[in-house]
Amino acid sequence: MGRSLAFRLTLWYATIFALSAAVAFSLFYVLIAKTIDQRTDADLLAHANQLAQIHALEGDGMLQRAAMLQAQAAGEKKMFFRLLYPSGLVFSSSNMLHWGNVGLDRNAVDALFEGHRHSLVTQVPPGRTFKARVLYMRLSGNIILQLGASLEEEARLLQTFVRIFLFTMAGLLVLGVGVGWFMARRALSGVESVTRTARQISESDLDTRVPLRHRYDEIDRLAITFNQMLDRIRRLVTGMRQMNDNIAHDLRSPIARIRGLAEVTLTHEPSVEAYGQMAASTIEECDRLLDMINTMLAIARTEAGAGQAAFKIVDMAALVRAACDLFQPLAEDKGIALQCAADEPCRVDGDESMLQRMLANLIDNAIKYTDAGGKVTVAAGADQGGVRLMVTDTGMGIAPADQNRVFDRFYRGDRSRCQAGAGLGLSLAQTVAQAHGGRINLQSAPGQGSTFEVQLPASG
Ligand code: ADP
Repeated sequence: MGRSLAFRLTLWYATIFALSAAVAFSLFYVLIAKTIDQRTDADLLAHANQLAQIHALEGDGMLQRAAMLQAQAAGEKKMFFRLLYPSGLVFSSSNMLHWGNVGLDRNAVDALFEGHRHSLVTQVPPGRTFKARVLYMRLSGNIILQLGASLEEEARLLQTFVRIFLFTMAGLLVLGVGVGWFMARRALSGVESVTRTARQISESDLDTRVPLRHRYDEIDRLAITFNQMLDRIRRLVTGMRQMNDNIAHDLRSPIARIRGLAEVTLTHEPSVEAYGQMAASTIEECDRLLDMINTMLAIARTEAGAGQAAFKIVDMAALVRAACDLFQPLAEDKGIALQCAADEPCRVDGDESMLQRMLANLIDNAIKYTDAGGKVTVAAGADQGGVRLMVTDTGMGIAPADQNRVFDRFYRGDRSRCQAGAGLGLSLAQTVAQAHGGRINLQSAPGQGSTFEVQLPASG
């Protein structure tokens, strides 16, 4: 639970909540305490000023009486006064039973003799638990007035405030944790549903999808991305399964043929010619197998991006001309006119041997699937900042339903089975084009011919 995101979110939420409440409370507390102190000070000063005036106008006797009246009116436990000579001798005071022996604050008295009219200090009467705010004032005739007010009530008020705050805080904290937990759980419930689906998938099939809540929020977006990823994984896994089946199937046929021939040779009258024939066809079948395996390896390597570091500038026009020269005898043998249209240099960054293989596969197919009397055109040229390569034939064409599948590994058209091939040529061509940042488009109509168009980014 300690590791769950909901728990950590709640913890953060509660901590931030408690911290901000504590800061707000502290500010409030300081403000109240300061206001109370200021009010007490202002009260004391007002009383002292009044007494000073009375003393100035009517002398010592009236001062003592007025001070006594003031102390009694405020309450003897709330206010006291003392009148002293600078020597510290008290010549008049209110009832000091409650206040114990509140001494003189030396610093405050010194301040008076340094020229201050009054000074204010907080004192704790000896043996008492409360604090008192005490004002010292120098009256005419070198008399010192000590006027004190108890801070007991204020302290009690602040204590009550603290208690109320702590209770409220505890309640709010419990509520905050509850609400935080609820909100975090609610927000993360979508993530849990994605997790549940992922677990279900890892245990069983790839068909399950995360249900959408149609709120189009982050969770829905996560679910959509997850579902898209599942679609892709499913397609890849299906493709891999199919490819495994195809590989098994395509490897089985030549091996079965080799085995069959060996068996026939052994069971019949052995002769040197029969063994020679067997060896020759074994070599032929093995070559076909090796070719297939090499092509599969080349596709895998190209897909993995191997060789991209060794890309160099390749002139596609020169490559096309060389390929046409190479295939010319094959085309002539089949009675097909092979035309080459690649005069202007057009350069790409790439792996020359892989580009050669791509081109060879396309031209080989065009000749293979075109009957005698047909025509194959190979062209290369610059096109909209890229390089365009076209291999056009007037052959048998490809049915629209097959046009997407011809690039799949091991896919062979039904009518092509009489021709040699493993169904890997176009797959390799497409992988090479993609590894060079390009793509292959196909346009074809059955009976009329096909055009394979390769778009590659130009060099630089
Ligand atoms: P292969 O030629 O070995 O069968 P490819 O991957 O080169 O394998 O081609 C896959 C399939 O696409 C072929 O079996 C064929 O049916 C079809 N195809 C490819 N090129 C052409 C073309 N130029 N004309 C007609 N069909 C073609």
